[in-house]
Amino acid sequence: MDGFQVNLTEAVCLGASLALSGICYYVYRKSRTTVEDLDKAPHFTIDRRLKDILKVTPGASLQYAVVEGVVKPEGEPLKSDFHKEISGVLQKFLLREHRLVWNGFSRRWTDDERVLHERVNTTPFFLVGSDETAVRVLCPLQASGRHMEVIYERFHQVNYGLSDLVGQYLSGQKPKGQLEIEEILKVGTTLTGVGELIVDTDGTLNLRPPSDGSEYFLSLGDFDTLRGEKESEAVCWKTLAVAFALAGTAVLVWVGLRYYRCLQVRRELEKERREFERLQTEAPRLPVTVGPEAEGDNHMDNICVICLTQPRNCILLDCGHVCCCYTCYQALPQCRCPICRQRINRVVPIYHT
Ligand SMILES: [Zn+2]
Ligand SMILES: [Zn+2]
Repeated sequence: MDGFQVNLTEAVCLGASLALSGICYYVYRKSRTTVEDLDKAPHFTIDRRLKDILKVTPGASLQYAVVEGVVKPEGEPLKSDFHKEISGVLQKFLLREHRLVWNGFSRRWTDDERVLHERVNTTPFFLVGSDETAVRVLCPLQASGRHMEVIYERFHQVNYGLSDLVGQYLSGQKPKGQLEIEEILKVGTTLTGVGELIVDTDGTLNLRPPSDGSEYFLSLGDFDTLRGEKESEAVCWKTLAVAFALAGTAVLVWVGLRYYRCLQVRRELEKERREFERLQTEAPRLPVTVGPEAEGDNHMDNICVICLTQPRNCILLDCGHVCCCYTCYQALPQCRCPICRQRINRVVPIYHT
């Protein structure tokens, strides 16, 4: 329809909400598939029978299975940097800086953090069952799930003087302090592993990331906790997808309502034009001499003040001004008299008796 346009804000809101809804739905589908994979995965106890089961399985491997065992290092375990008595098989050290950064857009200081240093150490390890049968865990760094516990966390606050404050205002950065964190997967912890189980040619049992791209898990919690976490994650993404889709629908409804209103205005104008033409044809056409603008018999006095081409052929009511042609009246951006700014309630053609 002529004159109807979707404005930039509406287009941006609609595009953003539809795109975000699509992304959230994609992540939801992925989480949902993971929950379904977890539900289908068989559970095994780590013992001698597991090796026998795998040997008779085609390819000597199980694509996705759940095992639970106690963490035991293959060689020397890793020692904690801050608690010498704690030993583990996976260790992560993180140094993070917390600071305030001046945001020129919102004109305020906002919290910001950045990683200054990160170090990860690993040593080969097994998950051991009740009868000392061991499953070697491969690529533990590729695994999802919470499998390390924080054993050290300390915040070092920064103290500064007056000269530092001046420097901070000039640079737009105020350091708050540094946070040191050490996480470790302790020796002797019970760990749940979900991944591909395979027997090597030398008879060693291995747990590794599934070759079909399913999610690999190592978790300190039991299987039900792990499944519950993935389930709530899926619900969360689904809620977000629905919320963004609703926001997109609301924008669409808004645009639709605007279009409908625009259509109604057009219809009213069309009706008014037809009525005007009817009155015009019914009335005898004589030179114009009525209305406050009708003084003098100069030719220019009878010309529309807007287009300066057509003769003035309508009376704007209630003010009674005769100043423009009907085409220009319909093109007025606001329904107000161009002379006195009074609201126009009705328009009638000029005729005399
Ligand atoms: Zn005109
Ligand atoms: Zn007027």
